[in-house]
Amino acid sequence: MPGVKGLRGPFSCLNNARYGISWGAVGAAQACFDSAKEYSLSRIQFTHPIASYQLVQNKLAWMLREITKAQLLAYHLGQKKDAGTWIPEHISLAKMNNVDIALEIAREARDIHGANGILDEYCIMRHMANLESVKTYEGTHDIHNLILGRHITGIQSFTREL
Ligand SMILES: Cc1cc2nc3c(=O)[nH]c(=O)nc-3n(C[C@H](O)[C@H](O)[C@H](O)COP(=O)(O)OP(=O)(O)OC[C@H]3O[C@@H](n4cnc5c(N)ncnc54)[C@H](O)[C@@H]3O)c2cc1C
Repeated sequence: MPGVKGLRGPFSCLNNARYGISWGAVGAAQACFDSAKEYSLSRIQFTHPIASYQLVQNKLAWMLREITKAQLLAYHLGQKKDAGTWIPEHISLAKMNNVDIALEIAREARDIHGANGILDEYCIMRHMANLESVKTYEGTHDIHNLILGRHITGIQSFTREL
């Protein structure tokens, strides 16, 4: 970005990358959900597909619920970005939440696939390994929590006097 001075350029780059991650995590979560849904409809246990059991349906319903909320969060953030009203705390909240729920969805999807969930024949472990690194880069989960904590309380807790 020509003409940009100080840290404005890098921070703008980070804001946009974190916004992109909030959508990318939703995509990974959706892929895990789709695979879990398909697998649960085809895997037969005790003469019925595991998708017919309430515990499995509960997991699928939870996954869909969290994906829908994460989509709405990223969409709302995009609207704020377009309107020029987003602040870094909005971006922290979306990046942190969406990677967090995507990881949890990947774990539930792995569970629904049983032992097959660890095979690279399915997409789950690839997404899970990727999401584990996304949890750390572009601001760790904990640091985004601290950014929100500072916004809520007015007290920064990034550093401590020893
Ligand atoms: C796949 C991948 C790609 C990457 N790509 C890039 C890149 O392109 N460019 C780049 O610059 N970096 C990149 N990184 C580095 C990434 O940004 C850092 O790993 C990340 O910022 C964490 O720093 P760290 O690894 O030194 O961990 P640390 O800072 O040591 O953190 C370790 C743990 O301590 C916690 N912690 C740290 N400080 C505090 C604190 N003050 N209060 C409370 N908890 C704290 C963290 O949340 C974390 O849980 C990449 C990392 C990965 C995994």
